[in-house]
Amino acid sequence: MRKFIFAAAAALFASPSAAQTPAPPKLLVVISVDQFSANLFDEYRPRWTAGFARLASGTVFRNGYQSHAATETCPGHSTLLTGDHPARTGIIANNWIDQSVSRSDVSVYCAEDESVPGTSSIAYKVSPKHLLVPTLGELMKKQWPASRTVAVAGKDRAAIMMGGHTPDQRWYWTGTKYDTDLTGAPVPQSVPKVNAAVAAAIAGPLPALETTPFCQSKGREIPLEGGGKPVGGGRFARIAGDANAFRASPEFDGDTLALAAALVDELKLGRGGAPDLLAISLSATDYVGHAYGTEGEEMCLQLTELDRELGDFFETLDSRGISYSVVLTADHGGKDIPERERLAGVPNAARVNPALAPATMGKALVAKLGLTGPGLLGGWAQGDIYVDKKLKPADQARLLSTAVAAYKADPQVEAVFTAKQIAKVPLPTGNPVNWTLLQRERASFYPGRSGDFVVFLKKDITPISDTTRTAATHGSPYDYDRRVPILFWRGDASGTTVERPVETTDILPTIASIIGLPIQPGSIDGHCLPEPSGTACQR
Ligand SMILES: [Zn+2]
Repeated sequence: MRKFIFAAAAALFASPSAAQTPAPPKLLVVISVDQFSANLFDEYRPRWTAGFARLASGTVFRNGYQSHAATETCPGHSTLLTGDHPARTGIIANNWIDQSVSRSDVSVYCAEDESVPGTSSIAYKVSPKHLLVPTLGELMKKQWPASRTVAVAGKDRAAIMMGGHTPDQRWYWTGTKYDTDLTGAPVPQSVPKVNAAVAAAIAGPLPALETTPFCQSKGREIPLEGGGKPVGGGRFARIAGDANAFRASPEFDGDTLALAAALVDELKLGRGGAPDLLAISLSATDYVGHAYGTEGEEMCLQLTELDRELGDFFETLDSRGISYSVVLTADHGGKDIPERERLAGVPNAARVNPALAPATMGKALVAKLGLTGPGLLGGWAQGDIYVDKKLKPADQARLLSTAVAAYKADPQVEAVFTAKQIAKVPLPTGNPVNWTLLQRERASFYPGRSGDFVVFLKKDITPISDTTRTAATHGSPYDYDRRVPILFWRGDASGTTVERPVETTDILPTIASIIGLPIQPGSIDGHCLPEPSGTACQR
């Protein structure tokens, strides 16, 4: 009898934290807000009242890091649910150059199958084949065969990188509708319904949104260098049929969330015998950032609306009585237009010298060295640049050393590293704040996909000179593009804000610990975070 009492008492008191741990959720909702920098999160945190406010009442990692150098959408999303840096996911950029492909377009899109005849990097066949590691949904299915993965996103590459290789449903916006690459999966009735509603909305005009006093205070028209129209005071008034304006507005995220909510109901997510995963990527913040920068009335209205839309979405889940938890983060941060940054006391903010574009630089160097062809291949003067392999090996070597010297000599360039230099460095670990530029690049590097050399512009140099289509961007190895919030919410109001730097690769092992999914030690780059409610990290 005494023995029994002792055993019972031991079970009650041996692990007080276990006694307080809530039951694992039945539905994991993982949300990526595209281009949602930690700077924006910090700026708006006191103003949120709905969805973001709810998430901020859980566990807030203020200093989350997309630690790698190539802070673009595809690499960033590839870290979120794999626990790995791009050096292991293989997703080094949105696009890279592969001069061995059998088609004339040597640019390869991160989420395509370039071996499909008749395709190009623009008219591509969507595929997860470049993602080299499994995602959370795949691991969950292995552990619990009944577990389902549903991915809904504004961009196909976000849905691919979060949904992985074996999703049950995957839907993303293609410019006219939400579509899928999955041919065998049944089409839920919700999809044509949402598509019809969105098409009807786009077909009509939209009046300017009502503003708020705070957003209005940001409403100042700023002229852009590089030919673009002034930005800063827009309120998303849209003419009938303008699908591009729709995409760069709060309407877009509202519709992506509406589709996600409809799929939760129709597929009964979170109500089966195994935990389900709903991965959502909301792209409008990114399109708004690119079109208008991050510090105007446009971004203010976007984030105000997104707060409300997220609040509505969570209330829908509440009303269904589903046991769910939410993780919200971003694929990368972002930066404002240099014209407005200079007004705000960033004197060195500037646009890149167009002579640094790989095509322009390549042409100049080819003429100088007496060679033929484009010389250099690559998208822009930031990140991976490739030497034309049609040149003789000796000429390739000559061009490489001349190009590295030419970029290094430019006053806007911070650093240039060759693939050989990068490959020699071990994969970085530890506090991502302290990583050197070379280490940040190493976390982005995958041989055979990465460039022959990589160029990093100086901090505060925007790699866009022609502003007729895009005003601002991200993609640099600096913290304004690397630092993102990571929010965990599980019905709690712990209100914990953690300042310690953590990484987006830590999300997967932390979620795994919450749902009891075993992860082989050392199999991923990330580490379990002990702070969120329900976490039981293995020591
Ligand atoms: Zn992005």
